[in-house]
Amino acid sequence: MAKSGASGALPLTILAEQFAKLPGIGMKTAQRLAYFVMSMSDGDAKAFSEAIMNAKRTVHACSVCQNLTDKEVCPICSDPGRDASTICVVEGPKDVSAFERTREYRGVYHVLHGLISPIDGVTPDKLRITELLKRTSDGKVKEVIMATNPTPEGEATAMYISKLLKPLGIKVTRLAFGLPIGAILEYADEVTLYKALENRNEI
Ligand SMILES: [Zn+2]
Repeated sequence: MAKSGASGALPLTILAEQFAKLPGIGMKTAQRLAYFVMSMSDGDAKAFSEAIMNAKRTVHACSVCQNLTDKEVCPICSDPGRDASTICVVEGPKDVSAFERTREYRGVYHVLHGLISPIDGVTPDKLRITELLKRTSDGKVKEVIMATNPTPEGEATAMYISKLLKPLGIKVTRLAFGLPIGAILEYADEVTLYKALENRNEI
């Protein structure tokens, strides 16, 4: 048996170890995926590896909202039909997808790429907060909706940002959570999410 991770490791072991780095994938599943790759055609295996590299090369943060896009400015920010005076602040790109599924929100977003969590070494400077302050400094933004999850980190992040925005005269609101405490936005159904948005309260 080859020593895992060593330079002499079997290519299949190395491949399984790469799969095991993915979230939610244990070593057993990783091995199954590695064997599956071996059953793929050369063309499919090439397309698979190229899709990873291509996405890494072309996808980056939107220069306005920080959501992931392959454009300089993402389709939501460049849509003239969206209300740029209302910004919905979320933890990650998955939350943008969740709100977009409601088909009701017509404002724009700001993606923080995380939540403040000093215990995990995530201090405010690690998030895209400076970019948010820059966006809100021109006086055109009327409302910022803090749509982080109702977890301790989500609440702390919402409070931290609201304290920075309020002195600028911007209305800061928080989702009205009919969601249970600790619930994760991306799993909420469209109606619950829309209601949480509709019934938001000023903080
Ligand atoms: Zn954008």
